[in-house]
Amino acid sequence: MPEPELDQIRQLLKSGGLRVTTPRTTVLQALLAAAGPVTQEQIAQALGKKAPNKVTIYRTLEAFIEADLVHRAFLKDRTWYFEPAHRCSQEQCHPHFSCTRCGRTDCLTEMKMPMAPPVAGYIVQHQRVQLEGLCPRCKAPLHSSAVDIPKTG
Ligand SMILES: [Zn+2]
Ligand SMILES: [Zn+2]
Ligand SMILES: [Zn+2]
Repeated sequence: MPEPELDQIRQLLKSGGLRVTTPRTTVLQALLAAAGPVTQEQIAQALGKKAPNKVTIYRTLEAFIEADLVHRAFLKDRTWYFEPAHRCSQEQCHPHFSCTRCGRTDCLTEMKMPMAPPVAGYIVQHQRVQLEGLCPRCKAPLHSSAVDIPKTG
């Protein structure tokens, strides 16, 4: 996959009112290069030797969230998954679909959910929808799964 351009990263940082620093650049680069939402741990792994220390990655992500460059996409096994905010709108994140069988979570970037109706006394600032069920890879009827068993030898 192509490395996100440094110019794009600098522009994003500036649009969020953040100074361009090496940790911010590398962490944002890892987030943009990822195929989907990633944990702090996965960011560190993806960056390898280039990775800033844990505290710096944590603080960098916090700064990104405050600047609305990054969203917490979903929580799994008590760990947050982060993703760039540019595939979401101001009022809502694209929905995420977690498969109860294989455990994968997919971004449904094409899906627009209607906003929740107003509730008296509450102010909705952001909507985040998480769906659960069987993903396309797992929804095949059980009897056909024998076909998928890879032949060895
Ligand atoms: Zn979002
Ligand atoms: Zn699945
Ligand atoms: Zn997503």
